[in-house]
Amino acid sequence: MDLKYVQTTCPYCGTGCSFNLVVKDGKVVGTAPYHRSPVNEGKVCPKGTYAHEFVNAPDRLTKPLIKKDGKFVEATWDEALKLIAEKFKSYKPDECMCLASARVSNEDNYAMMKFARGVLKTKHIDHCARLCHASTVAGLANIFGSGAMTNSIGDIADSKCVFIIGSNTFECHPLIGRRVMQAKAKGAKFIYADPRLTATGKQADLFLQFRSGTDVCLMNGMMQEIIKNGWENKEFIEKRCNGFDELKKEVMKDEYSLENVSSVTGVPADKIKTAAEWFAKSGASAILYSMGITQHTTGVDNVKSCGNLQMLTGNLGRAGTGVNALRGQNNVQGACDMGCLPVVYTAYQKVIDEAAQKKFADGWKFPDGIAKGENGYEVTTLMNVLTDKPGEIKCLYIMGENPMISDPDLTHVEHALKTLDFLVVQDIFLNETAEFADVVLPAACYAEKDGTQTSTERRVQMWRKAQDPPGEAKGDWEIIASIAEKMGYGAQFPWKTSEEVFNEMASFTPSYAGMTYERLNRPEALHWPCPTKEHPGTPILHGEKFGMPDGKGLMTGIPFKWPQEVPDEEYPYVLTTGRSIWQWHTGTMTRRSVDLEREEPTGWIEINTGDAKKLGIADKEMVKAKTRRGEITITARVTDDIKPGVMFIPFHYVECAANVLTINALDPIAKIPESKACAVRVEKIQEA
Ligand code: SF4
Repeated sequence: MDLKYVQTTCPYCGTGCSFNLVVKDGKVVGTAPYHRSPVNEGKVCPKGTYAHEFVNAPDRLTKPLIKKDGKFVEATWDEALKLIAEKFKSYKPDECMCLASARVSNEDNYAMMKFARGVLKTKHIDHCARLCHASTVAGLANIFGSGAMTNSIGDIADSKCVFIIGSNTFECHPLIGRRVMQAKAKGAKFIYADPRLTATGKQADLFLQFRSGTDVCLMNGMMQEIIKNGWENKEFIEKRCNGFDELKKEVMKDEYSLENVSSVTGVPADKIKTAAEWFAKSGASAILYSMGITQHTTGVDNVKSCGNLQMLTGNLGRAGTGVNALRGQNNVQGACDMGCLPVVYTAYQKVIDEAAQKKFADGWKFPDGIAKGENGYEVTTLMNVLTDKPGEIKCLYIMGENPMISDPDLTHVEHALKTLDFLVVQDIFLNETAEFADVVLPAACYAEKDGTQTSTERRVQMWRKAQDPPGEAKGDWEIIASIAEKMGYGAQFPWKTSEEVFNEMASFTPSYAGMTYERLNRPEALHWPCPTKEHPGTPILHGEKFGMPDGKGLMTGIPFKWPQEVPDEEYPYVLTTGRSIWQWHTGTMTRRSVDLEREEPTGWIEINTGDAKKLGIADKEMVKAKTRRGEITITARVTDDIKPGVMFIPFHYVECAANVLTINALDPIAKIPESKACAVRVEKIQEA
């Protein structure tokens, strides 16, 4: 028997825990602790524990599939690549769009970005960051000059006051939750704001149970209280920030008095005052947030409000402070860094910047040029374009994403995908979106390839190949390079190893320029920015100055706005969505894991006990949940833990898909959908 351990990085959430894959006779059979990682110190959550279980699932894709007469037929790689190359060549550049992936490696994403802009010459490329943290990228870049988590995970344990808003951290980023508990054990105050008393909230010292979508109002109210009492950090504001007067003018309005904020948010005034005092006076306060903040039509406003609060109190650039955007997926940070967004190349070099455009056009050496230096469509906009402007986008190439579960308003998404002339899906399983494809390409998973991923704290860590891919499945960048070669661009995709892809990417990417596989191949790896081979990496951003042209952070007055769709007589409740500790996103991996699926095998709708009583609904009863977009049948979970008037559904489950109900209302800047608030009604299912 041949037994070995292969150290790698977890393929689930953005925390970036390391563990060993246990490999027996060439097959991954388990996981084992890896104690040297400073991120998780040998510990993992349930998803990390069972991260081997989907790898050898019996329904892994093993051969290319081509749809013929409405049915998938197995094909050779040569047949599939030839068909794709012919079809891709038949479209005009901007008739094609590519979706990259927060699931795959930096190398895979760089290859997809280069393929879209260099081979297809389309300006349309995006990925699912649009659905989770597009507002973070836009919001933080606007006020700090860098759209990423400011601090590192480890230094949360040094905080004196942790304020979590819009994140169920203990379930969705459990090993970050561990750092919060370490801070609390050392005496830190822990404030939690959310419409639900989640597992995270149950550990808090102060719980602010606010109405979904009233984040800006709550934070403006806290800031008014801070300024009124003179608790702001005057020295920090004076030396390091612009815009204080504008911020003050907004937050000191009467509408943000304790009484008014209490009435809008539903949080008692004394709790808002206590939160403001604890936060401002601790000496080192950290904000942690996730999609409760970002997935709103005011997502960018919410993010900027978090930044305002931190600049007002001087809680930036030091351990235990910061605006800590907890990125959802393992490599969503990396996919953004790799330029898989419709407005930037790698490291956020703007496509509309002539110097950046020239740098990539000259450096890549495509004989017939690259895509124009214009902004492309976001994935959320794409779905509207497909239905509203038929024929404008004809061809879509999706790598490792599943919009038929993850995107808002699924009936609309289905309609949109059906308008396509040609759809290629590259994945490890035949997911719900792949069913609509013309060609499906079998990809290798994280355990079957070398590569890097960038966690929420900007730490770039390695995957290491532990077993061969099943059947004829191949690594994502290898597949992309094969298509490019068939289309006549083999010279631009010459790589033989992931390391060669990484080195090319780093040569175009200032924040990764000092990184090599040799430097990353150690437990602590490196945080970007790491601009030179001698640079030690940057665990904490904005220590001396912000990334703005004048080095100062930008405070802005943010007026409060309600969500686009608020409850009315017909749909009297607010629906919010989220995740469970046992499942992961669209369930393609966790629902194939026996040990995870057993814990929470289907979805539910959380209803407050008082609301359930009014509706005559009992715990565990099947009910109908309806919105203006559609309806689903789902099990009621009656609980005191959710705010009256609010209901919650986890979005993992195809059989009761929350996104049938959600609304494709978008933040005007980030184009992120408002998955955290729409109007819903719930009905008993009448006996026949
Ligand atoms: Fe994986 Fe996140 Fe769990 Fe860590 S906390 S083991 S990265 S899912």
